[in-house]
Amino acid sequence: MNYCGECGKSVTKKIPQGDNLPRFVCDSCQVVHYHNPKIVAGCIAEWNGRILLCRRAIEPKSGLWTYPAGFMEIGEGTEEAARRETFEEARAKVRITRLHSVLSLPHIGQVYLTFIGELLAEEFAAGEESLDARLFEKADIPWQDLAFPVIKDALRRYIEDIRRGEFGVHVADLPGRLS
Ligand SMILES: [Zn+2]
Repeated sequence: MNYCGECGKSVTKKIPQGDNLPRFVCDSCQVVHYHNPKIVAGCIAEWNGRILLCRRAIEPKSGLWTYPAGFMEIGEGTEEAARRETFEEARAKVRITRLHSVLSLPHIGQVYLTFIGELLAEEFAAGEESLDARLFEKADIPWQDLAFPVIKDALRRYIEDIRRGEFGVHVADLPGRLS
């Protein structure tokens, strides 16, 4: 960050009084600019035992598979964000049934909230940011072609839950280097 988003003047990275971490502080208006983690809301949508995945058409990780997920917008709730992403990326309408996991990525300042949902109908298609959208049997999940480690981690937990018949909410912090 080089300039203050409030007044446009220069900023200096320093520890504000009473704080304990360096922040960008405006040299002119003194506003402290906090950079905090962002929330990504996603949905593992089910239809008769299969799950909906889409293939990314945009960087990063274009061409790889993911369940619909994306940054929350100001003004919406977490489930609403997950439903919106499912419609944007896979043109599918979904009813959220429960929270599956809260996975933190401390190294990049993101928190993934992944919900489980049910498709309202067997209707889906590639959205603007997707090349393809498909229903996958659990045995056919493309583990080698998933877009992000956090997606792989959440799907692995999902499959394991079904195998064990236990459906709690997973809360975990994922390390920076995870394959
Ligand atoms: Zn300023």
